[in-house]
Amino acid sequence: MRVAVFSTKLYDRRFLDAANRGFGHDIRYFEARLDASTAALAEGFPAVCVFVNDRLDAAVLEALAKGGARLVALRCAGYNNVDLEAAERLGVSVVRVPAYSPEAVAEFTIGLILALDRNIPRAWTRVRDNNFALDGLIGRNLSGRTAGVVGTGRIGALVARTLRLGFGCEVLASDLVEDPELVAIGVRYAPVDQVLREADLITLHCPLTPGTRHLIDRDRLAAARPGVMIVNTSRGALIDTAALIGGLKSGKVGSVALDVYEQEADLFFEDLSNEIVQDDVFQRLLTFPNVLITGHQAFLTEEALSAIAETTLGSLADAEAGRALTCQITARSVRG
Ligand code: NAD
Repeated sequence: MRVAVFSTKLYDRRFLDAANRGFGHDIRYFEARLDASTAALAEGFPAVCVFVNDRLDAAVLEALAKGGARLVALRCAGYNNVDLEAAERLGVSVVRVPAYSPEAVAEFTIGLILALDRNIPRAWTRVRDNNFALDGLIGRNLSGRTAGVVGTGRIGALVARTLRLGFGCEVLASDLVEDPELVAIGVRYAPVDQVLREADLITLHCPLTPGTRHLIDRDRLAAARPGVMIVNTSRGALIDTAALIGGLKSGKVGSVALDVYEQEADLFFEDLSNEIVQDDVFQRLLTFPNVLITGHQAFLTEEALSAIAETTLGSLADAEAGRALTCQITARSVRG
């Protein structure tokens, strides 16, 4: 199948080309991000392949459909950047990669928690400067602390399990559905407000939907434990960043690790080291010694990239052959 791949990086190309030996799709790579100004590049392609920060609102989908696209393949799990109602109306099917490697994201989340908790990035920069003083590097044991896990799907369940069994945390969890296997190892489910109020460490693993946007806001931060650690490897807009900065300034929030950021589409995945970044909110976040930020890389493992490429190209083959699209996502399936 002819497919236009947007937001292509070298690693996307490497893994898609390797997987395509088994499929033989006609792949055209574009570095550009998909939005209203670049949609014309997809003219004549029946399939379009995109990533987390490509914009698939109604206008872009209309342009794609007009250009002949009938399939959008997301090479990610999240689908918050797609107007699924518009896609359905326009007869454009949307597929995603529901589970490429939850381990990749869960392990990275644990890495962030440990790095932040034990001041590893700060210690590393000190040692490189021959500064071996330990003042300011005092951490906390994870063992015995209460972790709040919001969303115990594929990734959240692994994080909850690791924190519970690997580190001996008390784990409070919130989800629309309880996972009996987590309950069996002592994870306790509670309403989200209780989880956010009682946790020493909050880690977010639910999808971004209208209902979860700014799940962490000023009021919930006010009700949280003093010194709470907040970790987000899910989607940036789960947190009201202005409220988070307020919490950091007042000392209410003890530390923050973010792999995702509300306005990341203007920053992440690009080398901006020679530019003046205009996002003052992001720049303010970088000034805090107790904030650790990575640029949406929790998924970035060999295993995950292989699985993403295989599943994505498999969906294209299914569409071409008229088979059922097992990874399809529709407005109705999201509503449940
Ligand atoms: P999943 O669908 O397996 O799990 C999501 C869970 O959240 C489900 O159990 C669902 O019931 C629950 N949920 C939905 N609404 C909720 C709410 N209001 N409160 C509490 N729980 C709620 O998804 P997953 O594979 O575990 O991925 C989780 C999220 O991680 C994705 O939505 C995606 O945004 C993000 N993600 C980030 C990266 C990265 O590189 N940083 C990579 C993959 C996924």
